[in-house]
Amino acid sequence: MKLKLRTGDKVLIRIGKDKNERGTIQRVVDAKTDHPRVIVEGLNMCRKHVKPNQSLPQGGILEKEKPIQPCKIMLICPSCGQPARVGRKNLADGKHARFCKKCGELIDKL
Ligand SMILES: [Zn+2]
Repeated sequence: MKLKLRTGDKVLIRIGKDKNERGTIQRVVDAKTDHPRVIVEGLNMCRKHVKPNQSLPQGGILEKEKPIQPCKIMLICPSCGQPARVGRKNLADGKHARFCKKCGELIDKL
């Protein structure tokens, strides 16, 4: 299955402690593998205990985004503002564009 999410997409978390929270995809990790995941800015935070080091001399707890499986999030359509299923359309010039199955509008700017 090809990942339909891209950096900069607005998404809704469907499952977990951040359920129904909205955020922006900051990064796609492992994009080339069978198990791509995405990092959503400010969501799915996890705490990491850090030993004292140069940037954090006293050590402590660092909050960091944890990658989320794509099945746990849903894209929010920029046109209708609703969490929507995404389809793919073939364009005349041979490219593909994503579209919202709810309102039919293209998600990618051409
Ligand atoms: Zn839409």
